[in-house]
Amino acid sequence: MGYAYDYQLLIRHILEYGVNYAPKQEIVYRDLHRYTYKDLYNRVHRLANALEELGVKKGTRIGVLEWDSHRYLECYFAIPCMGAVLHTVNVRLSPEDILYTIQHAEDEVILVYKDFVPLMESLRSKLPKVKHYIVMTDDKMPETNLTDLEYEEMIKKASKDYEFPEFSENTMATLSYTTGTTGRPKGVWFTHRKLVLHTLSGCIAMTGIRSPLRLKDDKEVYMPLTPMFHVHAWGIPYMMWLMGIKHVYPGRYEPMMIVKLVLSEGVTYTHCVPTILQMIVDNLPEGFKFNGWKMLIGGAKLPEGLAKRAREKGIYTMAAYGMSETCPALTGAFVKPHLLDLPMEDMLKMSVKTGIPFPLVYVRVVHDDFKDVEKNEKDMGEIVVRAPWLTDGYLNDEEKTKELWAGGWLHTGDIAVMDSEGYVTIVDRLKDVIKSGGEWISSLTLENLLSLHPKVKEAAVVGVPDEKWGERPLAVVVPMNENLSEEELRNHLLKFVEQGVITKWAVPDKFIFVRELPRTSVGKIDKKNIRKMVAESFKK
Ligand code: ADP
Repeated sequence: MGYAYDYQLLIRHILEYGVNYAPKQEIVYRDLHRYTYKDLYNRVHRLANALEELGVKKGTRIGVLEWDSHRYLECYFAIPCMGAVLHTVNVRLSPEDILYTIQHAEDEVILVYKDFVPLMESLRSKLPKVKHYIVMTDDKMPETNLTDLEYEEMIKKASKDYEFPEFSENTMATLSYTTGTTGRPKGVWFTHRKLVLHTLSGCIAMTGIRSPLRLKDDKEVYMPLTPMFHVHAWGIPYMMWLMGIKHVYPGRYEPMMIVKLVLSEGVTYTHCVPTILQMIVDNLPEGFKFNGWKMLIGGAKLPEGLAKRAREKGIYTMAAYGMSETCPALTGAFVKPHLLDLPMEDMLKMSVKTGIPFPLVYVRVVHDDFKDVEKNEKDMGEIVVRAPWLTDGYLNDEEKTKELWAGGWLHTGDIAVMDSEGYVTIVDRLKDVIKSGGEWISSLTLENLLSLHPKVKEAAVVGVPDEKWGERPLAVVVPMNENLSEEELRNHLLKFVEQGVITKWAVPDKFIFVRELPRTSVGKIDKKNIRKMVAESFKK
């Protein structure tokens, strides 16, 4: 006993493996900068030295406000590998919530991209705990009284000799905040151990398990379109680094830059929420087709109609599911080996299901008494999960943590059904499901069916109060250019009533047509705001 080396699962080991395996692999930032894994590795060490000189120690919390960049990837490694905590600040929150998250996280150092310098100037007086601000910029230092520390300058001056320390794998590595669709954002945090296991499971899922998106070889090229502040861009930058794959970072998301990078850098693999896919598909010129761009879609239900339209444009999609509290990977629409021969149409249907677990994840769909639902795709329950990388709890919030982990399973608040093969399909969030005359009507099923109408671009369904039924569904629809009537949509849905896909009670009484749908800070359809909007329109 006591002879063996007590190997701790630290993010440093991911950093070391990637650079040893693929030192010459490229990392690209917009059309502005490109360098190699080895260059990044050296800069990560310089950054650690520079931060240490500023007084950063084990446990120091460091907030980063930045778009997706090579610099952010440097922070993903340098900050946690020093034993400090990377707080990925959601820059799309309101200034008030940004202030709240930085205060709540107790950040002592802030790395801030030039776009957010004016914001930080305005919040600074309310952040006495922040000792240093460091500006990140693509060109010259903006004029500011916030600080005279500039990221590139600091890196240039610092030594590249830095030895990352050893510490427990249970040390906090990252901290981020839920997007707060209800109440204040809540802090969730992940340890080194959790992130390493999440990375390994993700690599297996991307390469070893059958799916429409399986990575073929190291010629694949990766570009995130889920912000790096949103649950570590789903942890995928760490996975890609471990596999030695080329990274392309788009900075702030601008459609022209995205398409340009995809074409010029040969991007093959991306992940995003459905809204971003929708934006790309809508803005492509007539007749244009990508050469097989793989896209993992999560964060919200992937509508079948959108998956079909994407495929016509040469974009292959697959749904995946997770949440801020879960690091995030839980399930993906992977294909079990014995289902590989399904006809194309069934494959498409399967690829939009919420899916089956990533390696090491357990997913159950249960009733209130923890009894599992029937595997008949009808019986609904809540998804509860276990995995080695789920957050231990909400930062400084025992009450909410207790609720989250009631009964030893993490409660997702998502309502789902399961098929005989164990594939889960989310039908709603507990707080969005429409309770009508004692029945639960799934808003996501209705949105999916509406997406299949050729004149529908997007749809959101919410419950509106009803004296007789409690609630009734109402559909808010963004039509394609053509004229579209309530009648057509009602008839479209009635076809699915005949086929037994939905009950006749599920057909909305009312359809509202709008030019666009409100979005949350990470680009998901914002149901809270839609309900508000609908309530206002009823008042008039
Ligand atoms: P927010 O709760 O503010 O949207 P998260 O990013 O944590 O922030 O969102 C997680 C939620 O997103 C899940 O609980 C689920 O409701 C939804 N979600 C994620 N992936 C999917 C999916 N594939 N299908 C349907 N809903 C999904």
